Amino acid sequence: MEAVEQLKQWIKESENIVFFGGAGVSTESGIPDFRSQDGLYHQQYDYPPEQILSHTFFMKKPEEFFRFYHNKMIAADAKPNKAHLALAKLEWEGKLKAVITQNIDGLHQDAGSREVLELHGSVRRNHCMRCGKFYGLETIQAQAGVPRCSCGGMIKPDVVLYEEGLDMDTLNKAVAYISQADVLIVGGTSLTVYPAAGLVDYYRGKKLVLINRDATPLDGSADLVINGKIGEVLSQACG
Ligand code: NAD
Ligand code: ZN
Repeated sequence: MEAVEQLKQWIKESENIVFFGGAGVSTESGIPDFRSQDGLYHQQYDYPPEQILSHTFFMKKPEEFFRFYHNKMIAADAKPNKAHLALAKLEWEGKLKAVITQNIDGLHQDAGSREVLELHGSVRRNHCMRCGKFYGLETIQAQAGVPRCSCGGMIKPDVVLYEEGLDMDTLNKAVAYISQADVLIVGGTSLTVYPAAGLVDYYRGKKLVLINRDATPLDGSADLVINGKIGEVLSQACG
């Protein structure tokens, strides 16, 4: 059976699908990923993106951090693509339990998904580092340079930077969903960022599906590997 047909069959038969995804889910919405050929890591900056997106760098050079952040991390005009929409539809049909994502763009929610676990936070939530006041994305966008709270404190996006830990509650929920899943669909992630990538190890079923453009370290252990564009594959498989 052709791989997409097999996936279609598994989706049809299941009521306990969990999706785990990364930056590749949003490239069809025009947001660059990190590691593809046209991803951020292949573009030239004064510092490598991993360094800019680290906690140390954020604290030491906030002006430089927010220059990169404004230019590359915020994609306010992006719209959900066929992958986001297919996953939202599966949830509304009662077949998909949760979307677990490494993305920070909020596009799953825009597509209508309700149970979205954002392992790395969201550009849409921001807090003052001095008084804790909450700000949405508009405040960050409206201020060129380092965004400031009305109290004068620096506003920090609720995005997990390198050197920072993940939210334990979110991580535990993700483990619970994955360990109980019937079908686990992993897509648009290079599976190289830990601890997120290690979540796949909690899956105990026999329907591990990998949908990715490039090869990943888990290709050998997946039950089904589909190399293609995730928006196209998911809309075909869910159609
Ligand atoms: P990554 O850049 O390491 O890997 C992306 C993977 O997606 C690649 O293997 C690539 O082959 C694949 N891919 C790209 N476009 C695809 C498509 N249309 N269909 C199928 N596969 C496609 O991304 P990652 O594994 O998510 O890790 C990067 C980290 O960067 C994450 O922690 C995430 O928080 C962050 N990030 C988020 C966004 C976002 O929110 N949209 C964007 C860039 C980076
Ligand atoms: Zn404040």
